[in-house]
Order: sequence, then C-alpha cells, then structure tokens
Amino acid sequence: MQLQLASVSHYHGRTPILNGLSLQLEEGETGALIGPSGAGKTTVLNCIAGLEEVSGGEIHIGGTLASAQDFHLPAERRGVGMMFQDSALFPHLSVADNVAFGLRGTAAATRGRVEEILASCAMADYAAARPHELSGGQQQRVALARALAPRPRLLLLDEPFAGTDAALKASLLQEVGDIIKREKSTALLVTHDQAEAFALADRCGVIDAGSICQWDTAYNLYHCPNCAFVASFIGDGVLIDGRLAAADEVATELGPVKAAAPLTTPLLAKGSSVKMLLRPDDIVLTEEGQGIAARVLEKSFRGAEILYKLATGAGTHIYAVLPSRHDLAVGAAIAVAPQVDHVVVFPSIG
Ligand code: ADP
Repeated sequence: MQLQLASVSHYHGRTPILNGLSLQLEEGETGALIGPSGAGKTTVLNCIAGLEEVSGGEIHIGGTLASAQDFHLPAERRGVGMMFQDSALFPHLSVADNVAFGLRGTAAATRGRVEEILASCAMADYAAARPHELSGGQQQRVALARALAPRPRLLLLDEPFAGTDAALKASLLQEVGDIIKREKSTALLVTHDQAEAFALADRCGVIDAGSICQWDTAYNLYHCPNCAFVASFIGDGVLIDGRLAAADEVATELGPVKAAAPLTTPLLAKGSSVKMLLRPDDIVLTEEGQGIAARVLEKSFRGAEILYKLATGAGTHIYAVLPSRHDLAVGAAIAVAPQVDHVVVFPSIG
C-alpha cells in the first residue's frame, strides 16, 4: 500500500474538520477526492503533505508512518510532490532549471533526470525557455515535471486544472493522466469537478463533512452509490418515492421497477417505503398509451443528447437524457417509462 489513511481526524481548535477519514492507494494508482466546498479536501492533502498535524488516526506513505496523534514526520522527509492550480514556476529560471530545482545529486544525474522527465512531459524542446514564453498548458506540464522529477513516493494535485479553460482541460487531463501512468506514480487529486476526477482517477472518494462516504471506482459511485448523499452529489438524478413491492421490485408512480438482484436488507424489509435513484439515462420515451404521461419543463442541448427536465402527472420532477434527434419542445406532452439497469434504493427517512 503506497498511501494509507486510517481513521484520520483533524481539529481546528475545538472544531472537527476531519472525522475518522480512511482511504488507501496501491502503488501506481491515482485517486481523487471530490466533494462540496468546505468538506475538508484541502485539509486532507495538507495532512498528507505534512503541512498540518493530525489529531487522531494514522497516515502511512510508502509503508512508513508519517502522521499519528503524537508523531509528525516533517514535510520535507515525506517524499511527497505537489502540483497546484497556480503552477508557481520561477520566472527568472529556464524550464530545465525550474525542473532541476528540487533535485539532489550530481550535476550529471540531475541533468539526466531533467532530460528524461521533460521528454516524458513532451517539453524537451523547451528546456531553455522561460516560463513566460510558454502557453498555460505547457506551464502546467512543466509544473508536473518539476513535481515528478525527484520521483516522489506520492504526488498530490490540488485543483491543478481549476484555472484552465474547458477546451485545454480535456487534452491536458489526458496528457497528465498518461504522464502519471508512464512515471508509475501514485497520485491523489483533489477537485470539485467530477468529470476531472473520473477522467484521471482509478478510485474516487466522495467527501462530506470531513468523512469519506464512499471510496470506489467512478462506475460504482455513479451506478451503485452507497448513500443518498453520494447518489445526489454524483451525476444528475433524483430520488423518487417508492415502496418495496417484492424483494426485487420497487413500486413507483412511474410503474414497477424490477431489479436484477434482491434489494431487501435488514434495513429494507418488503413493504417498506424507499427512495429510489432515477438517473436521466434511466428514462425512455414510449409510444402514446404506454408508460406514464409527462410534460417537458426545461431542456438543455448537449450535442448528441438533450437533457430534459420533466414533470409527471403527479407533479414529480424527473430528468431524461434522450438522443437529440428527438427535439421535444418545452411544454410538450410525452409518455415515458423507467428502464433502470442499476436499481438503487435507500430507506425513506421520516
Ligand atoms: P475544501 O478543500 O473541501 O473546500 P477545506 O479543507 O479547505 O475544505 O476546509 C474544511 C473546513 O475547515 C471548512 O469548514 C473550513 O472553513 C475549515 N477550515 C479550514 N482551514 C481552517 C483554519 N485555518 N481555521 C479554521 N477553520 C478552517
């Protein structure tokens, strides 16, 4: 295990910021922490980097204890590299000297590593350039090269693309992901942007109020969220009222929804009221006379698809993403049915 946080807690004065937070990354894995502003993402990174002390629990980096209640390995001895939104390159140094800055060793070894990592980051031709001569994307690649040059045991990325425009971000994400994999680095990214986390990470954690609700693959976070918070935070979707009509069937106002496996658990007995997750891709258009009646409230064009906000006859708001060749007008009366591959239910509270 290259990074392990076991029940880490952190207080500012008497205020708990992290509450028994746990996560693990295997060597060579990339993880991402996503969550709303103020959830504690930056505090987690600061605790791992050694910029903040922990109040309880343990942090191990590369199998070595880095933080515990009565123990704090200094930041400079943790072997952690960092990349931030503001690449903060030294303006008066060349690209090569920026990258060499944190390297210890002989001049020849330093030169060799700088050449190697600049080639890996597709910046070999810019070794002599100054930061101001580079585009934003190139500056970020140099910042990544600088963070990776000393072969850190762990690379921490704190919202590194927050200031990057959307068009550049897509290609930069791909490149950064490729470089991290090529260098066999273990990395942890903090972001509020789900698309970014999904593009880069093998494993993502949704963090809320200082705890990780679910540490899992992006696929499972989307299709098999383990709590209502993750279900609402990840992707689009709504939780609609339902009742467990059978072990593998939910009765809803849109009709019965059949699950592939039994949904009943000790918390969810047959007959109990539930909240069922309905993603926009769980709704299909039906012929008139089939399905249930709905009205288009809003639409948002996404290119190949259109995201519709619909109101059912009972007034429930649901979302549907449909191919944009069906160009339904706002106000149109349509018929829809649920077609749910992953049925996710939570107990109804209250
Ligand atoms: P995120 O990165 O998810 O936005 P942070 O880790 O920055 O969250 O902050 C988590 C919580 O800790 C927030 O409620 C914030 O107000 C609080 N916090 C952060 N730094 C301090 C500090 N130095 N003193 C007191 N509270 C702080």
